Amino acid sequence: MTQADSNFDTPAMRQYRVFKDQYPEYILMFRMGDFYEMFHEDAKIASRELGLALTSRSKGASAVPLAGIPYHALDSYLARLVKAGHRVAICEQVEDPKEAVGVVKRDVTRLITPGTLTDETLLDRNEGNYLAAIFAPGGATGEGGDGEKKDAKPQAGLAWVELSSGAFWTMLVPCEHLLDELVRIAPAEVLIAEGSAHDEQSYRASIRQCTNAAVTSRGAWAFDMHTAMQQLREHFHVHTLEGFGFDAYEPSLSAAGALIEYLRETQKTALAHIAQLRKFQRTSHMAIDGNTLRCLEVHRTLRSNQRAGSLLACIDQTCTGMGARLLERWVTFPLTNYSQIVARQDAIEELAEDPRRLHALRELLKSASQIDRIAANIALARVRPREVVALGQTLTMLPKLAAMLEGIASELVTELAPHLTGLDAPAQLIAGAIDPDCPNILREGGVIAAGYDLELDRLRSIGHDGQRWLAEYQAAEAQRIGVPNLKVGFNRVFGFYIELSHLTADKAPPDYIRKQTLKNAERYVTGPLKQYESEVLTAEERARALEADIFEKLRLALATHLAAFQAAAEALATLDVLGSLAQLARHRGYKRPKITQDNVLRIIGGRHPVLAEQLREQFVPNDVVMDAKDNRLLIITGPNMAGKSTYIRQVALLVLLAQTGSFIPADEAMIGLADRIFTRVGAADELTRGLSTFMLEMVETANILNNATSRSLVILDEVGRGTSTYDGLALAWAISEHLALRVKCRALFATHYHELTELESLLDGTKNLNVAVREWADEVIFLHKITTGGTDRSYGVHVARLAGVPREVIERAREILPQLQAHLAEGLDMPELAERARQAAAQLNLFADAPARIARELKGLDLNNLTPLEAMNTLKRLKSEL
Ligand code: ADP
Ligand code: MG
Repeated sequence: MTQADSNFDTPAMRQYRVFKDQYPEYILMFRMGDFYEMFHEDAKIASRELGLALTSRSKGASAVPLAGIPYHALDSYLARLVKAGHRVAICEQVEDPKEAVGVVKRDVTRLITPGTLTDETLLDRNEGNYLAAIFAPGGATGEGGDGEKKDAKPQAGLAWVELSSGAFWTMLVPCEHLLDELVRIAPAEVLIAEGSAHDEQSYRASIRQCTNAAVTSRGAWAFDMHTAMQQLREHFHVHTLEGFGFDAYEPSLSAAGALIEYLRETQKTALAHIAQLRKFQRTSHMAIDGNTLRCLEVHRTLRSNQRAGSLLACIDQTCTGMGARLLERWVTFPLTNYSQIVARQDAIEELAEDPRRLHALRELLKSASQIDRIAANIALARVRPREVVALGQTLTMLPKLAAMLEGIASELVTELAPHLTGLDAPAQLIAGAIDPDCPNILREGGVIAAGYDLELDRLRSIGHDGQRWLAEYQAAEAQRIGVPNLKVGFNRVFGFYIELSHLTADKAPPDYIRKQTLKNAERYVTGPLKQYESEVLTAEERARALEADIFEKLRLALATHLAAFQAAAEALATLDVLGSLAQLARHRGYKRPKITQDNVLRIIGGRHPVLAEQLREQFVPNDVVMDAKDNRLLIITGPNMAGKSTYIRQVALLVLLAQTGSFIPADEAMIGLADRIFTRVGAADELTRGLSTFMLEMVETANILNNATSRSLVILDEVGRGTSTYDGLALAWAISEHLALRVKCRALFATHYHELTELESLLDGTKNLNVAVREWADEVIFLHKITTGGTDRSYGVHVARLAGVPREVIERAREILPQLQAHLAEGLDMPELAERARQAAAQLNLFADAPARIARELKGLDLNNLTPLEAMNTLKRLKSEL
């Protein structure tokens, strides 16, 4: 035992160490009286993360760092610790300190980890809180793939669960796409098998970097095939998992089993609300990689990493948190199935067509509580009184909602209705049992409604009737001893007492027992008072115990309806999302796109959903027309700031929205189903990413080239910009060829290499577009209008002039440019690239047009304004160039 320990060797601290040893990876919050205390390393972390004062218990060399928070502030501090990725164990006093013999009994009652939040105060209303687990047999991670297509790519198992609602999913995914799927699910915590390839430092770092999730390693045994299957069978009380669609073992079951094992350990309670395991089919959804989600700013913006300004924030018109969370799922998992998309469109159209109904529906939805989360808390035995009240109110509202759906033809909507009815029994149960104005803490009493339980009413009346008894007793005693101002009072130390002033104290009869002498009064207790007191106090105590008992019975009764609550929550959420999308159609003029299996894309008057909201009428709508034949690859050129990036992202966003089933901001549209959307933004354009290297850019481009199919939509923004001009140009050229000739998918390539416009005449299916610019006086005016044809010049020098670069420098830059380009092309050391570049250069007459240029320059010389020396130098230079 070290010196520090020996000075700190109280019974409570010995108890602390036992718990701390049990949960070394958790910050242990140790309840001591009105505080939760943290010690040693935990105290240091807490003081750093929460800005708490770090004090010490005992002084000098043996000082133990200590930080504490008041018990009533626990929730807000917990939220901050957990958001920062920490795990917290709460160690409570589990007996009344007054009744404790020796040290108070304590126990760890809750383990809180980033992926297992259930408390409303810790959860985000609009975002799911997922715990994921990944597992790959043999530990393959698919990192650094060699780019060759293999027939059987190794499959990894992925499972994710939302403890706060009970949703539980599995997915099989090629190892190399595991991170992409994690980004899309956006878990708060990811479990990995100890010692597996996922456990390696670099992979853990990738997970954290891509998803921001906390990474937790669990014993490899928990992922073992037999253990995991056993874990799942036990949890679901089944002999076989065939009922969930698993005929045989697959790696995702290992992940799922490990999740259940982790939840059992951390929650220490039943998990009855996790009643289903759903198998997620990757192929029935559009594939979107993590990069694309980021570049299209679906969840968060690239620059500030905030929800505000993202696609979701822009289109989210939902009325409930359940709806907001489902909308996020719909948008991140767009559909590829024609009839599913059309079914959603039909529903949206019908809702949008009847504004009165839509309005009424949304008003009702606004009153709905998050009953999926409340249901989960019922199952976890953590539900609070006011949550039950809220559940009851929502259940009571549901039939009204169902009634509003009458007359709607959309099957998607009509099949929701049955889930919204038939819940009268639990609704009435709650209405009868719980006082709607109850406190949120059961211990405070007053939760169970009057009239629900006879015995409870009787116990409560003892308190109330007691008031009358006291008044009568006071009057009777005053009369008996002849002291009219005799008072009955109460204090915490002595309980009820009779008070006589000093002047009348001599009237106290022998049955008054003196307890306290004050300055001007004496206080006594009597037999009847003592008896009354114990009756009142025990009545209160018993009432509270009885309330807890009744509440628990009610909880168990409600728990029998879990599945129905969950189904109702899902129906509510679906209705909310459909209503939200209908709202967009009505109030933003979104139009229903025609969905087709043909490999085409035709959007007239399309708008960028986010930017158009910000710029309003200043936003310039644009068209796009693509097909598999003549307009597969669109090369978009134009000066900086013209609107190239906006345009190509807009196309991707509109396709994504359309396959979500939503209407889109366009006058009309025909969307040919895309199996994937790929977006790659050149490294130089990515300001926020630490890792913005050319290598990364190429790895991701390789991913596109290897995985895109003819049904994909590819968006390339300034790819190739991360390297020297001719490397970049050569690569951009080769990538374009590959897409246009081999993959034959629809692709949009925004580039400042106007040399690429030559491709139109060389490659099948390639078309040039440019962003219209008007030069007027000395200015370039951006019209943001996309037109056909390529730009014939780069405006880089122009932009420099706009920025105020001196005229001589601009002129000089115009002179240097062609020489420099020629020089660079000679200097290339990679033969293949040089060949490409030469090919490009030849096509472009970049180097061959010197005579014409010199003629132009000669023509432009102002002889009247040249000094003889300048004239000489110019002649010399022109000669050497020739
Ligand atoms: P580029 O990629 O060509 O450099 P961006 O797409 O980044 O240009 O657009 C630059 C800016 O131009 C945007 O931030 C936006 O303010 C404006 N802009 C782009 N497209 C439009 C449009 N269609 N209508 C109005 N303004 C636009
Ligand atoms: Mg751009």
